[in-house]
Amino acid sequence: MKTQIFIDGAYVAPTSGASFDAVDPSNNTVFHQVPRGDATDIDKAVKAARRAFDEGPWPRMSGTERAACLRKMGDLIAARTDALARVEVMDNGKPLPEAVWDIEDTAGVFHFYADLAEGLDGHEQKVPLGMEGFTSKAVKEPIGVAGAIIPWNFPLLMASWKVAPALAAGCCMVLKPSELTSVTALELGEIANEAGLPPGVLNIVTGFGPEAGQPLTEHPLVDKLAFTGSVPTGSRIMATAARDIKAVSLELGGKSPLVVFADTPVEEAVEWILFGIFWNQGEVCSATSRVLIEDSAYEAVMERLVTEARKIKIGHGLDEGVLLGPLVSKSQHDKVLDWIETGKREARLVSGGGIPTGLEDGCYVEPTIFADVPEDATIWTEEIFGPVVCVKPFKTEEEAIRLANDTRFGLGAAVMSKDLERAERVARAFRAGIVWINCSQPTFTEAPWGGYKQSGFGRELGEWGLNNYLETKQITTWDAHRPW
Ligand code: NAD
Repeated sequence: MKTQIFIDGAYVAPTSGASFDAVDPSNNTVFHQVPRGDATDIDKAVKAARRAFDEGPWPRMSGTERAACLRKMGDLIAARTDALARVEVMDNGKPLPEAVWDIEDTAGVFHFYADLAEGLDGHEQKVPLGMEGFTSKAVKEPIGVAGAIIPWNFPLLMASWKVAPALAAGCCMVLKPSELTSVTALELGEIANEAGLPPGVLNIVTGFGPEAGQPLTEHPLVDKLAFTGSVPTGSRIMATAARDIKAVSLELGGKSPLVVFADTPVEEAVEWILFGIFWNQGEVCSATSRVLIEDSAYEAVMERLVTEARKIKIGHGLDEGVLLGPLVSKSQHDKVLDWIETGKREARLVSGGGIPTGLEDGCYVEPTIFADVPEDATIWTEEIFGPVVCVKPFKTEEEAIRLANDTRFGLGAAVMSKDLERAERVARAFRAGIVWINCSQPTFTEAPWGGYKQSGFGRELGEWGLNNYLETKQITTWDAHRPW
């Protein structure tokens, strides 16, 4: 585990010499000291990235050359899967099998963007013009220096969603991980060096939002900001970016609906409801935290849902068979427990709602289900970001769509029905960027990811993720031999 930040290809102590605690949420004990970067370190990191972009080889290399580095980074991450996953369990709390998926996915993201980097070579688009005597084409170029700020729920995976496409595009960058889960991100520096990434292309500064994140968003030498996190921070970043007209992409919160029609087999419905909200302790931006069930199936689905939720094994992420680990931190734990207290006043608690017996030393919360939740209840409208699901019956397709869309968020949405025409109709009616039919949450590196409304804008993953870090340049030539 690294104790220094990574700038210009080397691990260095933060200027202040300060550090902060990395805390294991399974027992609230400190397991590591993370370097506490601040505005001075961010300035050094941004200047290193700027030099690497303006003078270094990276943006001038072919996509194929960059791809070789990215592929190597993916290989090196894959080779460290077990070690990185175990750190992720300690830092974030998630069960080991889920941490292993995260790391495998992270390696896959680097491999995927290696392929896309190759695809950039020779890529130019002829633009047909309405006037003779001129020819025009559009070419793609890296946007410049990118600043990436990420949350704590999928620590290394969230880093990869920004680092891999930015590097593939030819950008140089500064990554600021969440102060709650910084440990694995710092390993990327060593991995980058082993993979032959030139110095300054990737810089990693750990630290707190106001101390390290804010100066990164304010830095005049940064061209593009990519942020994943909460709506208030996203809003602040957008306002800051507006001063210098920096490009911004925002992946923010959600309160995603899952609509279950009565023709869905009860076991299938329950399986996806459970996965949709309790996977990763419900600390998932796209978690389907609002479930709408057609009234004729409501009783049956609720009964099985409660039975199955009570079977979920809660415990330490390294223990065999555990499906629900602790929440990420004491403050997140307190916040979710507060929401549950609010929920008890606003709706009917039908399962969970407390700290599991015997696990009082960690940040554990039982899988919690509220039924018959009124539309104006705050637990129905606000993101809880924990293992808490709100369920409500509906009568008609129109009502389901209205309730599903009645939110300021628009990240995910899901519909379950054996009538695929209806499912498709509802999918298209959702005002959300990611829609699942007959499932909830599966995420693919190839497919676009991002939100409508206050869930942000811009798309990550797939070719859309690469476009976030590319400029489009028009090159128009006058053919001097022809009149105009
Ligand atoms: P957060 O906004 O508190 O923090 C996110 C990051 O922003 C952290 O690295 C933090 O240090 C930094 N930050 C905080 N204040 C800052 C400031 N003033 N300037 C610059 N950076 C600052 O969010 P969080 O609690 O870490 O994450 C949870 C939120 O993230 C949830 O709302 C969730 O829905 C959202 N999220 C969204 C997605 C998505 O893909 N849309 C994915 C994961 C999480």
